[in-house]
Amino acid sequence: METVLLSDSEADLLKAAQLIKNGNIVGIPTETVYGLGADASNEAAVRNIFAAKGRPADNPLIVHLADFSHAVKYTSYIPELAYRLAERFCPGPLTMVLPKNDLIPMVTSGGLDTVGIRVPSHPVMHRIIELSGCPIAAPSANTSGYPSPTSAAHVMNDMNGKVAAVVDGGESEFGVESTVIAIEGESTVRILRPGCITKDMLLELCDEVIIDHAILNELAAGEKAASPGMKYKHYSPKADIIMLEGDLESFIDFVSKHDPENTYSLIYDEDGEKFPFRYMTYGGTSLEQAHQIFAKLRELDEIGAEKVFVRAPSKEGVGLAVYNRLIRAAGFEVIRI
Ligand code: AMP
Ligand code: MG
Repeated sequence: METVLLSDSEADLLKAAQLIKNGNIVGIPTETVYGLGADASNEAAVRNIFAAKGRPADNPLIVHLADFSHAVKYTSYIPELAYRLAERFCPGPLTMVLPKNDLIPMVTSGGLDTVGIRVPSHPVMHRIIELSGCPIAAPSANTSGYPSPTSAAHVMNDMNGKVAAVVDGGESEFGVESTVIAIEGESTVRILRPGCITKDMLLELCDEVIIDHAILNELAAGEKAASPGMKYKHYSPKADIIMLEGDLESFIDFVSKHDPENTYSLIYDEDGEKFPFRYMTYGGTSLEQAHQIFAKLRELDEIGAEKVFVRAPSKEGVGLAVYNRLIRAAGFEVIRI
């Protein structure tokens, strides 16, 4: 199949929307990462998303709507807290897991009786949802297991020949996927996947925010995941990623003793000046690190890095999202130095 590269002009967005309406898959920019969008109610189209990504069938897709008020159409129950959260955070990088109804097929929800609902703020994604009139199922537009795409070029790299079109809407603003939450009882939120809507931001609207155990810890064999995506190795470039937790001095000391010739280090912007080995930087603040992390992991593959020592990010605020992606990219290999 030939993959057409579309611009963000109204005429091209209309083409993208038409393709989706007709059961095709399209790569679409969002404010988090690029998504692979199809009509969430079209089982054949959704199956093609799983096939294009090589995604396990039990890993559910998030359904994207133009407005949170449309969620009533696809769910069987919406708690009061969900409306309050939506008022504050929709449109934006928040996904709420809610009980689904029959308009969302089991293929889309990975066999679960719940569905993740998100209202994206990116004008291109928003317009395509509006023009298509479809609820759009969209996972990240990468090959399953590989770092998520934050530019149209990343999507073309993974999906050229596998999808009908890719819309170029520039670099993704946040750079990590949405915060996925479940609502428990009247005023408790469980974070299933951390993102740029942080624990503290959620705490402004509810009594308790639980960070699910699987966000920072590897699931034991046979342990049930609250979010199926947490079972799988994720976000990994070809290079072997090892996270080092500690200060810059200890980091330099460690790298000097571990074959710096064949490795790269991925460090903070401000570390660069004093760093004596081959390195790349991935920002200074947590927001910058979120924005850059996936692009840097892809770049490290392009330059042929075989082993990468990463200076571990903070786990505070948005840092938790960056840490969660990196710990999976590293296959949970973290060394405290
Ligand atoms: P991606 O599509 O790559 O952004 O990944 C979506 C993530 O959201 C995966 O980790 C899923 O496990 C999670 N997710 C989506 N829908 C649900 C749901 N109904 N229940 C729990 N987790 C979900
Ligand atoms: Mg993904």
